[in-house]
Amino acid sequence: MPTILPKRHQRDIPLDKLILRDPPGAEAIEMDVVIVGAGPAGLSCAIELARLAKQDQEAGGGGSGLNVAVLEKAGSLGEHNLSGAVVNPRAFRELFPDIPLEELPFRQPVEAESVYLLTERRAQRIPTPPTMHNRSYYTASICEIVRWLGERAEGLGINLFAGFPVDGLLVEGNAVRGVRTTPSGLDRAGQPTGDYTEPTDLTARVTVVAEGTRGLLSQAYQQWQRIGSSNPQLFALGVKEVWQTKRPLDRVVHTLGWPLPTDAFGGSFMYPLGPDKIAIGLVVGLDYHQAGLDVHQLLQQMKLHRFFRRYLEGGQLLEWGAKTIPEGGYYSLPERRYGDGILMVGDAAGFVDVPSLKGIHYAMQSGIYAARAAFSALKSGAASASASALAPYDRMVNDSYIASDLYRTRNMRLAFKDGFFVGGAKAGLMTVTGGRFPGGKINVQDDASAPRAITPGRPFTPDNVLTFGKLDAVFKSGNATRDTIPSHLLVGKDISPEVADFYSHVCPAGVYERVGNELRVNPPNCVDCKATDVLGPRWTPREGGSGPKYRLM
Ligand SMILES: Cc1cc2nc3c(=O)[nH]c(=O)nc-3n(C[C@H](O)[C@H](O)[C@H](O)COP(=O)(O)OP(=O)(O)OC[C@H]3O[C@@H](n4cnc5c(N)ncnc54)[C@H](O)[C@@H]3O)c2cc1C
Ligand code: SF4
Repeated sequence: MPTILPKRHQRDIPLDKLILRDPPGAEAIEMDVVIVGAGPAGLSCAIELARLAKQDQEAGGGGSGLNVAVLEKAGSLGEHNLSGAVVNPRAFRELFPDIPLEELPFRQPVEAESVYLLTERRAQRIPTPPTMHNRSYYTASICEIVRWLGERAEGLGINLFAGFPVDGLLVEGNAVRGVRTTPSGLDRAGQPTGDYTEPTDLTARVTVVAEGTRGLLSQAYQQWQRIGSSNPQLFALGVKEVWQTKRPLDRVVHTLGWPLPTDAFGGSFMYPLGPDKIAIGLVVGLDYHQAGLDVHQLLQQMKLHRFFRRYLEGGQLLEWGAKTIPEGGYYSLPERRYGDGILMVGDAAGFVDVPSLKGIHYAMQSGIYAARAAFSALKSGAASASASALAPYDRMVNDSYIASDLYRTRNMRLAFKDGFFVGGAKAGLMTVTGGRFPGGKINVQDDASAPRAITPGRPFTPDNVLTFGKLDAVFKSGNATRDTIPSHLLVGKDISPEVADFYSHVCPAGVYERVGNELRVNPPNCVDCKATDVLGPRWTPREGGSGPKYRLM
């Protein structure tokens, strides 16, 4: 069967635009620490830094406090964050030891949970694999978590700048010296309009890259500094919806099997968010084999299964969104997550445990460790923190439950490269042996190097009641990006009609269309999920406040 090799059509990362060697502008804002990304990782880092600085001052440490800025590309905090989510509260407890659990930004405790194997007509309950136990955890909306963390950070004197995407890292020699933000107010041709605002430079003694999944700056930094990893990072795409429902869900539900083909890795989740709201989503590894596979459409099809339908019927779609997840695990972690003037935390460093679908507490914990390392490094008074002064960050991560949890499940996701049934059997053995089976490391290639059989997409007509097309879905993400914005997507070479079709299926937001034999691109639709950055056209930051406006994700 003819195939597409995604890598052949993909552009290199635009390193010259991301690693900026020109000196900071004369108007540059001087900070001690700049954090890129206001997700759980970046905000936890900011909060811990503020706490340490306060403690130090109170103890007579002589410091005059720290100037910390968090830059976020979303117009308002939380609008670009999407998760499941069932949250392990461990890192919250460490960061807020004095706040009672009931006051943390969770929706409800997990009281029951079930895992099902789906076929097209049936749902067979199976024993919950040990890695998927969620008792003593809480369901939550990450948008609400981020807004809550943002309020705590602001209360501690952190400068939060929403609507300021970072375009590149300012560097000097091998050291990172700060960041440059994107300009805004450009027209489609990239020319300034009346609303034009120049980029802003912020210099920093430490820059913390907390930009989340498939981070552009972390990719650029690792490539520039030739930081490798045992395996390349792998990604999955999650498409998620939040529904207002009439029938309450009393448990956390995961399903495996249908509607995924057996050669794809993934599954669904359905979580209660209070008595009348449900989060439902489908996550699929981006190493799937068939070019016609379309995660958004599979989720729509899945909702028509009796098992889900009985909850959704009579209800209403409130919000829709999509995001990738780094799921390579332990062997895909960068061999170092620090350098001269820089630290990488959270999803940007790949701290996600896929068998348990957990990343929030690892992101927060890594942010806390980054803050501790940065604070000690800055206390010495150096103009910029050296790599050796920041190296304790990696040691803290390596000695913590972040590394030990990921090590325990180190080969599980990789086993599914052999398909659902073989992978499932191997994963079972890995669980029983605490990760020791099969010994050593399973080697994998990156997602874009996996060939795709050219298969047609499945015909799909949304009913606009339970199922929705991509354009209606994007509307439900709150995306209202102005349609005169310049394209932020870098399309590669030799885009045949089949490749155009492939991109139209990869992208959940309908950004790519095949029109005749050509690829048509609709950049304003983009919800920054980064799936095509993994398999096709590169994503770059665009004008602040563009993209989705999630409230409940
Ligand atoms: C479908 C799905 C389900 C999941 N389910 C769960 C779950 O149930 N439990 C769990 O624990 N984890 C879950 N995860 C994983 C979890 O959501 C992530 O691990 C976690 O959000 C990572 O936090 P972070 O702060 O590193 O990144 P993010 O939460 O992604 O935050 C990064 C922030 O950086 C901003 N940013 C990015 N680039 C720039 C830039 N250039 N300039 C400025 N700002 C920028 C983004 O807008 C974003 O706000 C799930 C993930 C997905 C996609
Ligand atoms: S174009 Fe945007 S929305 Fe579509 S896959 Fe790429 S990043 Fe996601």
